[in-house]
Amino acid sequence: MAKICVIGSCSMDLVVTASKRPQVGETVLGDRFTTVPGGKGANQAVAAARLGAEVTMIGCIGDDFYGKAIMDNFKRNGVITTNVEPVTHVESGTAHIVLAEGDNSIIVVKGANDHVTPALVERALDAIRSADMVLVQQEIPEETVSYVSSLCQRINVPLLLNPAPARPLSEAVIEKAAYLTPNEHECSILFSGMDKAEALRKFPGKLFITEGSSGVRYYDGEREVLVPTYQVEAIDTTGAGDTFNAAFAVALAEGSSIPDSVKFANRAASLSVTKFGAQGGMPMRAEVEESL
Ligand code: ATP
Repeated sequence: MAKICVIGSCSMDLVVTASKRPQVGETVLGDRFTTVPGGKGANQAVAAARLGAEVTMIGCIGDDFYGKAIMDNFKRNGVITTNVEPVTHVESGTAHIVLAEGDNSIIVVKGANDHVTPALVERALDAIRSADMVLVQQEIPEETVSYVSSLCQRINVPLLLNPAPARPLSEAVIEKAAYLTPNEHECSILFSGMDKAEALRKFPGKLFITEGSSGVRYYDGEREVLVPTYQVEAIDTTGAGDTFNAAFAVALAEGSSIPDSVKFANRAASLSVTKFGAQGGMPMRAEVEESL
């Protein structure tokens, strides 16, 4: 069983569906309200656990109702929560989503996710040391991402850095990551001034650009490869990237080759878009294997 540590955000998505979006000063009646656990860190942890890894989540929750719900969700999905710390007098991270007129608008409040500090990571050192792979994203402080990259290099644990949401990264951090998985937009922010082909050639076997329904692009040392994903009827692509990253990490941590790991991750992510919700669509290991 591969051991994965995910260092990242845990949030609750508060989703309102309405036929109309309110203007400034206006009140409208909504149709439906749902709460769904989210946050890129939590999503990737849940996806990796469903794919059969032993997953330790390292993150923060607030001392509120949502924090308890986030913990319950981890436990239901078999994620180890010893290193998920509650922060007193701070609210859990939330995303306030309005679905109206065929589009969404979102306000994210970082809350406890801003408390995922280098000191918190240091407290989880035993778990990180024994991991086959560490996964990190960018919904936590920049300083922590940088600290994690140095730590992983120092203790020789491979780091998969998913640079989402988009924000520039220093050369030093990029250098220390074993794998980097931006989508096309994140890639253009990370390597501004460089075209895609140039960036891929600079990081053979490290840079994997996810291109939605087209699949994944990387440079294998000799040539640029575009691995097509599976053709499916897409219902909801939310969380496709999180499923891809989790599945890629699990396969690599189990010792699979890069081509096999990309194939496995494409299959898992393509299955995830056939169902509603980020975590709602994340497949179990057997589903992925049966359909490879
Ligand atoms: P999101 O933010 O929606 O979670 P993302 O922008 O981080 O996603 P994408 O590049 O859109 O990431 O998708 C990640 C992977 O998910 C793709 O490389 C592919 O394997 C799979 N995928 C995404 N959309 C589709 C689709 N419509 N059909 C099949 N596979 C898909």
